[in-house]
Amino acid sequence: TDMMAKTVTLPDGTKLPALGMGTWNMGDSSASWKDEVATLRHGVEAGLKVVDTAEMYGQGRSESLVGEAMRDVRDDIFLVSKVLPSNASAEGVAKACRSSLRRLATDRIDLYLLHWRGSVPLAETIEAFRKLKEDGLIRYWGVSNFDVDDMQDLEKYTRSCECASNQILYNLEHRGVEYDLLDTNRFRHVMTMAYSPIGQGGELLQNSAVKAVAARHTTSNGPASPAQIALAWVLRMSNVMAIPKASSLAHIKDNIAAQEITLTEDDLAALDAAFPPPSRKTPLDMI
Ligand code: NDP
Repeated sequence: TDMMAKTVTLPDGTKLPALGMGTWNMGDSSASWKDEVATLRHGVEAGLKVVDTAEMYGQGRSESLVGEAMRDVRDDIFLVSKVLPSNASAEGVAKACRSSLRRLATDRIDLYLLHWRGSVPLAETIEAFRKLKEDGLIRYWGVSNFDVDDMQDLEKYTRSCECASNQILYNLEHRGVEYDLLDTNRFRHVMTMAYSPIGQGGELLQNSAVKAVAARHTTSNGPASPAQIALAWVLRMSNVMAIPKASSLAHIKDNIAAQEITLTEDDLAALDAAFPPPSRKTPLDMI
């Protein structure tokens, strides 16, 4: 389709498509390896530039799969990977990043995230990220699973606009971040990446309100699905990226077509009734 896809903006003004691809639990089985590579490649061809992986996923198997999928299309991809908190020391980060680059078969990671906050002082991890940036091994760095207080702590050690992204759990079933964290990120020009945007393919897709909204929409791919509604709902927010994971062509095509859906006021009201927005602070949920 030739519709204008929604974009998000990094602190330096760089724009990225707001729909990307997750890869947790991909690359785990040789039986599905080829289909998963084909799925990622289909997504890239359709303009889903951002691919999200982590050293943790399948103990490196997800990164290896991504490495194969992007072999001859590396420049069409904005590659995101993550370092485990247990590797977040100065030496640990340097080593983990090089191991990830080897598995990814590339010379740079576009966005490198601290997967969640651990016991290593933030200042040490940030210094290690700066070093990787100077050496050209990463282009941007950011964090994941950081709540408001974590972002405030981070700010003590960073220059403004240094942290490019905060990747967090956000979907209809987990709206707590609408109370404060989404704005906390936005005020700092930190791009929010919403993980598990379709609720890991679970109950959310069986929800009657979501199904009812789906029944009111169609896309170039056919009648709208609950997963497309869940994605369109996350993508309604400004500067929020969604990174659903799909391991089949049918699912990736469905997710690509979700970009065509604009939810109406009535749709949003129906979804609010089924999944009320937060009225007070709740700690950030995490998967
Ligand atoms: P998602 O919400 O993306 O759901 C993935 C599940 O939904 C899979 O079972 C998938 O099936 C299914 N699915 C995908 N598309 C469709 C569709 N169109 N219709 C029906 N079902 C569909 O969950 P994830 O937890 O995977 O989150 C997405 C990504 O976010 C992860 O892959 C990972 O990259 C990242 N993440 C980051 C975390 C962090 O701590 N920073 C934590 C969790 C996730 P199938 O595989 O068969 O296509």
